[in-house]
Amino acid sequence: MDPPTVLEKALEFHGHRCWASVAGVRVGLAALEKLGVKRSGGTQLYGIVEIGEEHGGMCFGDGVQYATGCTFGKGNIRTLTHGKFVLTMIDNKFRHSVRVTTRNVVIKRTQESEFIEFRKKGIPASKIAVELIDRAVDFTWLNQTRTISKLIRFKISNILRDSRKI
Ligand SMILES: [Zn+2]
Repeated sequence: MDPPTVLEKALEFHGHRCWASVAGVRVGLAALEKLGVKRSGGTQLYGIVEIGEEHGGMCFGDGVQYATGCTFGKGNIRTLTHGKFVLTMIDNKFRHSVRVTTRNVVIKRTQESEFIEFRKKGIPASKIAVELIDRAVDFTWLNQTRTISKLIRFKISNILRDSRKI
């Protein structure tokens, strides 16, 4: 599947269009590319998402699940409630891992957007103009994620240590 198709299917799976699920798709695809692997049909891959329990954080998790195939249903994903938009992906077969974050500019621009202003006033996303939502979706999609580290040899203690840094 090409990336735009993954994005559209992920948004369909998620149920609505929002920047955080797009950010999840982005980091998921970046992690697969960096590790040189395909979406997981089994449990070769294991994902750790550092998210918050707030709405946006949970949306991010859906994007990651769809893009990577690391799902709660298969038991190969877990969350650390650090209130970030970060994914660590482990390739169990080759014992590599990669940590990918959403760029600060995406988070900052989104938090300052009209869409978020409406959301903060308690207006549900379904009542906000589609153009405002799509503006945040497009900006997120077009801006690259960044890869923080690639561990040659995966150790869970390294991942938990790194997760406290950023
Ligand atoms: Zn959402």
